[in-house]
Amino acid sequence: MSDEIILGRTLVEWKKELPLLNEVINFKEVFWTNPMYQTISESSSLTVKDILDAEERLVRFAPYIAKVFPETEDSGGFIESPLMSVPQMKRSLEQIYHFELPGSLLLKCDSHLPISGSIKARGGIYEVLKYAEDLALEHQKISLKDDYSVFADQTFKDFFSQYSIAVGSTGNLGLSIGIMSAKLGFNVYVHMSADAKKWKKDLLREKGVHVVEHNSDFSAVVAQGRKQAAGDPHMYFVDDESSRHLFLGYSVAAIRLKKQLEDMNIRINEGNPLFVYLPCGVGGGPGGVTFGLKQVFKEHVHCFFAEPTHSPCMLLGLMTGMHDQVSVQDFGLDNLTEADGLAVGRPSGFVGKFLEKEICGNYTVDDDKLFTLLTILADKEGIYLEPSALAGFAGPVKLLKAQAGGTYKQDASLINATHIVWGTGGSMVPEEEMKQYYGRGKDRACKNK
Ligand SMILES: *Cc1c(COP(=O)(O)O)cnc(C)c1O
Repeated sequence: MSDEIILGRTLVEWKKELPLLNEVINFKEVFWTNPMYQTISESSSLTVKDILDAEERLVRFAPYIAKVFPETEDSGGFIESPLMSVPQMKRSLEQIYHFELPGSLLLKCDSHLPISGSIKARGGIYEVLKYAEDLALEHQKISLKDDYSVFADQTFKDFFSQYSIAVGSTGNLGLSIGIMSAKLGFNVYVHMSADAKKWKKDLLREKGVHVVEHNSDFSAVVAQGRKQAAGDPHMYFVDDESSRHLFLGYSVAAIRLKKQLEDMNIRINEGNPLFVYLPCGVGGGPGGVTFGLKQVFKEHVHCFFAEPTHSPCMLLGLMTGMHDQVSVQDFGLDNLTEADGLAVGRPSGFVGKFLEKEICGNYTVDDDKLFTLLTILADKEGIYLEPSALAGFAGPVKLLKAQAGGTYKQDASLINATHIVWGTGGSMVPEEEMKQYYGRGKDRACKNK
C-alpha cells in the first residue's frame, strides 16, 4: 500500500507533504484551514450580475410557481426558507462539547424549503426553469414580459412532453429535478445511486418520474445519466459535477439571506463577522451559496464546508490541489455514509477550482455524531433535519476547539460573530424514518452518560 502510486506520488510522499492525511485516511475527524484562502475575492468569470440574472428569472417564474405549488402561495411563488435563532441548541452544544461559543447561532432552514425540502430546491428547480424558459423563448411560446403562469397551460405541457431531462443523484437532487420537470410536462429520468432512500424513489415514481436504480455510487450514476442524454438532442442533462446553472440557482440564497439578516437587525461588517457552515457533497450547493455570500459580504464572511469522515472528497480535492482528479477511494476511503446527501467520492470539476481561494476551510464529521446532533436539535428546538444536514453544527465546535481554528479564536470581533449553520434538508423525511434517526441519536446520548 505505502509504495502504491496515487496521482503521481506514493502515499508516504503525500503524507509528508500533508500530515493531516494521516488522520483523514484513518476516518478521523479533522479541521483544515485553507492556506490558499484570500479574504478579498478576485474578479472571476461569474459576478454578482449573474446572481441577479438568476434572481430575476425566479421572479419571472414566481406567478407560475405560486399557481402550481399552492404551498408557495403565501410567499408569492418564491422558494425560500426561514432563518432562525437556535439559542437552546447553542447552550446544549456548549455543555456537551465543553466550550464557549461567542456570538449568536442561527439555523438556515433549507430543510423546510417548499416543493422538495432540501437545498436542492434552489439549484435543481432553478436549472429546470432555466431550460424550460430557454426552450419557450427559442420557440416563441413566450416573451420575457409575459405572465409566466401560462407555463401551467396544457399547451405548454404538450410542448415540453417532446423533451426529456436526465440527472444522476443520491436522492435530493433527483427529488427537485423530478418534481419540477414532471410538473412542467417533461419526460424525466432520475438515475439513483445505491445510497438513495427508498421513499425518495417511491415518491418520484408516484409523480410519473422514470427512476433508474443503480448499484453504484454518485460519480457512476452521473456518468450513466450523462451517457443517456449524450445521444439524444431532445434530452437535457443536469450535470451536478459541473453545472453553472445549478451553482447560480444556489447563489441566489445569499442576496435573500442579506435581507433576512437585515430584518433581524443583524449587520455584517468589520466588527461583526459572519461564519457559515455548509454540508458538502459534490460541492455545488455549498459552493454556490459561498460564491453568493462572498459577493455580498466580501471579507466579512467565512465559509466552512462539512463532509462525512468516509466521504471527504472536497477536502481531498482542495488539500491535494487535484480537485476532480482525486477520489476518496484513491486514498483508500470507502465513501460509505449514512449522510446520503453527502455520499460523494469525487468533487465537482469546477467548484473547488473556482473557489479554491474563497473557501475558508473544511472539516469532517463522524456519522454517529450526526445522529447525536439530530436528536439534540429535535429535543431542544423541535426541528427535525436529515443526517446530512446536521454536519454544519459540528463547525462552530471545531472552529473554537481545534488547534487549526486558533487564528479565529484570537479574533476580538468573535464576540459579535453570527454563526449560521446551513440546515440543508429533512422536512420531507417520512415520520417512521425520522423516528429511527432520532432513536439512533438517543441511544448514543444514553451510552455516553
Ligand atoms: C445535496 C445535499 C448537500 C450538499 O450539496 P452538494 O451540491 O452535493 O455539495 C447537503 N445536504 C443535503 C441534505 C443535500 O441533499
